[in-house]
Amino acid sequence: MTSVPKLFGSEVFNETVMKDRLPTATYKAFKNAVLKGELLDLPIANIIANAMKDWALEHGATHFTHWFQPMTGITAEKHESFITPTADGRVIMDFSGKELVQGEPDASSFPSGGLRATFEARGYTAWDPTSYAFIKDGCLYIPTAFCSYTGDVLDKKTPLLRSMCCVDRAARRILKLFGESTEKVITTVGPEQEYFLVDKDMYDKRRDLKFAGRTLFGAMPPKGQELEDHYFGIIKPRVKAFMKELDEKLWELGVLAKTEHNEVAPAQHELAPIFAGTNIATDHNQLTMELMQSVARKHNLVCLLHEKPFDGVNGSGKHNNWSLGTVEGENLLNPGAEPYKNHRFLLFLAAVIKAVDEYQDLLRISVASAGNDHRLGANEAPPAIVSMFLGTELTNVLKAIEAGVEYKPADEGELKLSGNVLPALKKDNTDRNRTSPFAFTGNKFEFRMVGSAASIAGPNVILNAIVAEALEEFADKLEAAADFDAAVVELVRETVIAHKRIIFNGDGYTDAWVEEAKSRGLLNLKSTPEALPYMVKEKNISLFVKHGIFTEAEVRSRLEISLENYSKAIRIEALAMLDMLFKDILPAAALYTADLTAAAKSKKELGIAGSFETELASKIATLSSLLYTDAEKLKAGLGDVVKTSAQAEADYYHDVILKDMGALREAGDELEKLMGGKYLPYPTYSELLFGVY
Ligand code: ADP
Ligand code: MG
Repeated sequence: MTSVPKLFGSEVFNETVMKDRLPTATYKAFKNAVLKGELLDLPIANIIANAMKDWALEHGATHFTHWFQPMTGITAEKHESFITPTADGRVIMDFSGKELVQGEPDASSFPSGGLRATFEARGYTAWDPTSYAFIKDGCLYIPTAFCSYTGDVLDKKTPLLRSMCCVDRAARRILKLFGESTEKVITTVGPEQEYFLVDKDMYDKRRDLKFAGRTLFGAMPPKGQELEDHYFGIIKPRVKAFMKELDEKLWELGVLAKTEHNEVAPAQHELAPIFAGTNIATDHNQLTMELMQSVARKHNLVCLLHEKPFDGVNGSGKHNNWSLGTVEGENLLNPGAEPYKNHRFLLFLAAVIKAVDEYQDLLRISVASAGNDHRLGANEAPPAIVSMFLGTELTNVLKAIEAGVEYKPADEGELKLSGNVLPALKKDNTDRNRTSPFAFTGNKFEFRMVGSAASIAGPNVILNAIVAEALEEFADKLEAAADFDAAVVELVRETVIAHKRIIFNGDGYTDAWVEEAKSRGLLNLKSTPEALPYMVKEKNISLFVKHGIFTEAEVRSRLEISLENYSKAIRIEALAMLDMLFKDILPAAALYTADLTAAAKSKKELGIAGSFETELASKIATLSSLLYTDAEKLKAGLGDVVKTSAQAEADYYHDVILKDMGALREAGDELEKLMGGKYLPYPTYSELLFGVY
């Protein structure tokens, strides 16, 4: 293997390659346009396109693609070769600035939530020069944003880029008041990605995994995760080989894959990268999810990214570590040694507190999906109630500010370990509260509600937008203040008083918290259909419109798309259940019943005592009949879907269909426990969860 530093970024048209291959003036113009967010002139784009093409050809590429992120949540691409015919019947490899800057995929089948009639299907992709182009499988990938011809936003990248500009603008206003200047303020993200690996041969036998990405039937095995012996356990050879290849592929593409370990559930793992700017982190997370799936296949494994592949076993999330800092490298959420004296930090902290409290609904919505509904509030992931964990020290600092008294740090900074062998560690001023949805962890916030399958673009658009809004409001007040220092302290005090209800350092999994949150007036939006309508509340539409992130029509279209996605996901699951039932489960039960009754009959004829066969056959027959009746009910329910509005439809799937699916599953799992091993039509939880080594 080539050395990692050599491998890293070898398939990326990055800074080093550009410096090497572009004329200095072109490189400077490019950098300047990126920093200022301006469009590049065509002559400059032509030079860059040509250099990109030459580099791509040297790396074996024959095609290029505008890579974009439509509202499906996954990425889209259409490959075009570089060939251009010449007059004498040959071809040359060509790539123009125009082709680099703008593309026109046939976009009629991407979700638009009613924004774009299909007869006006034209959408276009526009190069995002802030994320590097790269080569994958012989194709040059150009990260792009995706809009309709009328300018409506149809993707996840455009609002993200816009939200980053908003934070930059607002944060620089604040920094200026502190007498500081920076070229740019950026938000940074390090998403920790959880996933499951199962054997592909087993996966192939399960229609639920294939169609829905999660198991829809499956009794718990004798051993689940109760021993917690998988967490950080030794990584099995097959998984290790997968991780090694994944790391190498990611490194080639410039993704800073850093940490890999086993997670709590059997067959569950995690990959965490080193953080990057939000836009790049988002692109890299999409790439990571794609590569996890394709590399797994090479090892005869399947990577499950669903939030809840197995009932009764922990699901998968994506901890979205978020912070903001200057391009020069200063983290604005770093409290420093004496946070109580660090007014700038306290002001940024106050902005986040205000933002999270005022826009709990949007944060909840940003992680809402049919899959994630199985996790949130299920005592394995944060509750559906949004709250913030700040840790003892910061909470006490804020309490002192609120009371208008001087803060006296407690002398507990050192954590003494036995003997003198280990150095005294500075006790992290942020305890590790794993039950909090939004925890301050040293110099960043960890938003833990995000689902494993989701693009992180959505949650980060919201985080950026709401914090930008709070900072703008602060800047308006502070710019008008006569005594800046006093005004900052007063503003932090006012904010803490107004929004302290959102701060909760206790155990988020308890019923007591649910009660207390209610008395504090915090929202508890338990399901996706319950949460989504908050998207179009007046305050939320105003936020998006004011910051130029979405128009009102775009917000409404996104609500429509999210509701439709929810209904579709549940419908597919219900149909997959019926499919399994009639193709696999009922035939297997019938076969087993027939064998049992035949055995009972011959036993009787031969005068052999005992009759477990008859009893077992009766139980199986009863459960099979129950399953059949439940299935008929579910089928009828699917025929009666309320379609008066997208909301009514989603509500129906949640209130009626999901419930019927639950009943069906319960009977199915009971039946599975009674079935003889060789009659089981597909691999069980035991085999799936413990089948890879
Ligand atoms: P954990 O114990 O939760 O794994 P780590 O300290 O290892 O915590 O960090 C988890 C993630 O947070 C990593 O992806 C890391 O790069 C990211 N992270 C660290 N600092 C920042 C920051 N300033 N902004 C965004 N993400 C960050
Ligand atoms: Mg974490």
